[in-house]
Amino acid sequence: MVKTMAEQNGARVGVFICRCGGQIGLSLDMSSLEEHAHAGSDVVAVRTCDYLCHEEGRKMITETIKSERLDRVVVAACSPKLYLETFQESVVQGGLNRNMIDMANIREQVAWVHQKDRAAATSKAEDMMDMAIAKVRYHEPDDRGNISVVNKKRCTGCGICESVCNVNAITLSPDAEYGGKRRANVNAKACVGCGACVSACPTAAMDQTYFSNKQILAQIDTALAPKEDEVSSPKILVFSCNWCSYGSADQAGLKRLDIDPHFRTVRTMCSARVDPEWILKALSMGADGILILSGRPGRCHYDVGNIRTRKRMTLLKMVLKEYGFDENRFQIKFVDADQPEKYAETINEYVQIIKELGPNPIVPTSIVDPKRVELPYLNL
Ligand code: SF4
Ligand code: SF4
Repeated sequence: MVKTMAEQNGARVGVFICRCGGQIGLSLDMSSLEEHAHAGSDVVAVRTCDYLCHEEGRKMITETIKSERLDRVVVAACSPKLYLETFQESVVQGGLNRNMIDMANIREQVAWVHQKDRAAATSKAEDMMDMAIAKVRYHEPDDRGNISVVNKKRCTGCGICESVCNVNAITLSPDAEYGGKRRANVNAKACVGCGACVSACPTAAMDQTYFSNKQILAQIDTALAPKEDEVSSPKILVFSCNWCSYGSADQAGLKRLDIDPHFRTVRTMCSARVDPEWILKALSMGADGILILSGRPGRCHYDVGNIRTRKRMTLLKMVLKEYGFDENRFQIKFVDADQPEKYAETINEYVQIIKELGPNPIVPTSIVDPKRVELPYLNL
């Protein structure tokens, strides 16, 4: 079993919370958020700032990394689509690899769209921050960006990954180390990081560097962790494609559209990265609903990733129905990058459906032991 750096040595996480000049605090209880961050696993420093993206804020990140000997950073602020690269520079200036940071989008996708329920919005911001902390624990120093990688010990040479790669970044060739049997190879320069090959691989031989299975599963575990408060129920996960629905979610924030706060977002680069096993795991852990939001056919950043998702998840829906799940608990909807109103409407309708359906009939502790659905890649 290959352990990550944080698993071997423990992690020293720094959490940086932005007030955005008071705008975030209009909807969220910032003191509660700060207190919550201090209690985070492996969190050794928490700092709050008026404008993290300004020079003073970026300098604070760099200096805190050095003074507190941080080895990874979470920034709870605006959208990673806006400022992740800027904060990556601060992390590099602090002496860390640029991969050792993640962001919780508590502005566009929390504070600006959940202005009517402060308690629920704060609870959501805390969860999104916890999910980023859980994810960053599995980040490894890596300069290759977000690409797919092969564990050749697991690869059987079936070639499915090659068949789903739209940019021909995967080749299968005989490998002397494996008795001349075919093994997959990823051309890191050609890979554009969609992740379609990872979720297609039947033996979990593929993974990604920035949206790895461990990172996503850590987010799912954290989002579904039992909580006492009423405000975090129902538990709904929304898988949002970076280039399509995630953009609309950010725009919904800019337009201050009103969205029900009872869902937690997991960002992937393409909906084709969403692994059916994540859905099974989440439902077995008590998720009340799961929604995948991808772009419409013809609007996919990776050409046909959304079509693959549609096909794969339609099969999964049939399986879930066989298991007695109401098929509405798991839905796939199209939301493009320029449809903030549709995004808001889709989420609000879905949350309402799940509220009417009531809690997931699976009680994780009494019916399904989550360990029984541990996925093979957890033991890589
Ligand atoms: S799909 Fe998986 S097992 Fe098949 S060739 Fe690709 S990496 Fe190997
Ligand atoms: S992540 Fe996408 S682009 Fe990269 S190898 Fe896999 S399918 Fe091809």
